[in-house]
Amino acid sequence: MQIAIPKEIKNHEYRVALTPTGARELVSRGHTVNVQAGAGEGAGFVDAAYEASGARIEADVAKLWDTAELILKVKEPQPEEVDRLKSGQTIFTYLHLAAEETLTQGLINSGATCIAYETITDRQGGLPLLAPMSTVAGRMAIQAGAHSLEKAQGGSGVLLPGVPGVAPAKVAVIGGGVVGENAARMALGLGAEVTVLDRSISRLEVLDDRYQGRMKTVYSTADAIDDAVRESDLIVGAVLIPGAAAPKLITRRMLADMKPGSVLVDVAIDQGGCFETSKPTTHASPTYIVDEVVHYCVANMPGAVARTSTQALTNATLPYIIALADKGWQKALADDHHFLPGLNVHDGQIAYQAVADAFSLES
Ligand code: NAD
Repeated sequence: MQIAIPKEIKNHEYRVALTPTGARELVSRGHTVNVQAGAGEGAGFVDAAYEASGARIEADVAKLWDTAELILKVKEPQPEEVDRLKSGQTIFTYLHLAAEETLTQGLINSGATCIAYETITDRQGGLPLLAPMSTVAGRMAIQAGAHSLEKAQGGSGVLLPGVPGVAPAKVAVIGGGVVGENAARMALGLGAEVTVLDRSISRLEVLDDRYQGRMKTVYSTADAIDDAVRESDLIVGAVLIPGAAAPKLITRRMLADMKPGSVLVDVAIDQGGCFETSKPTTHASPTYIVDEVVHYCVANMPGAVARTSTQALTNATLPYIIALADKGWQKALADDHHFLPGLNVHDGQIAYQAVADAFSLES
């Protein structure tokens, strides 16, 4: 199969859809991998590394798209990419269509088969192609939070692990899913005193069992959040209510109860944020201060660590890419009922109910 890896063109997107390691796996199965010149540079993968893996480097973008049977990307197609897509092609990428009517209509009009990473499921009811980026964001949340606690960033000047004779900082993580567990694990690793709040008893059981009491687990109620607000040096927001905007769990009024220079890291900002005072920020200017509380609300955290994120993404997507390339999309999806929900748009129609519902279109 002819597989294309375009260079991502969305602003400040440095990831690429496939590593040279992934390209080698596909080439060894007899597929042709065409990588746009410079596509991997942002993630530290030079053209020569792809060539060494057996991939071809293509400088002509129009030709790259035109000859492709399967197109692999990271971010949703941008308008000029939608214009290049055509019937008979399959595109496999993050789409997040439910909030993007213009893009959805463009994909419908293209006639292409559009499979989204984020709606593929697994046996445990999880989202295996979202999880790697949540893992990255969760781990980064503590790096970002620790840095934000420094005086120069407006923080309280507290070092997360403390030192002998000085108590460690208190970290609360609201939401104990993929982001939350990874944040808690990092904070624990740095020696902080960690509390995880969740509404799911089964998640709290998993964390309690896995970390053997080294982090506190607390059922998430308004009282529990009030306590966290009063006591914590750093709070990470990591809640998700699937298909809904994040609930505002810390209001502006509650900031007055926090210690001056405390830090809020709102990882749920891509779902609107779970603190009332959160607004999306960028890696160029990641923090701002409200009522003496430092806010970090970067909506695309994994983008800052493009190399690790690209490797983690390829690890997760590669088995699905191999299935698509070896079997063709129809058989690959028919053979795996967890892969099937990935199909969002096909042959001029929406194939995923939640997207159809979002725009009152027929699926
Ligand atoms: P997840 O489904 O694995 O975990 C979410 C957890 O929140 C669940 O355990 C759920 O029980 C819990 N929860 C729901 N309501 C709660 C409440 N009121 N109090 C406490 N816990 C509550 O989701 P995830 O993969 O960990 O993602 C968390 C958020 O991070 C999502 O909004 C996701 O989109 C976002 N995210 C952001 C970035 C970024 O760059 N900013 C990157 C990856 C993920």
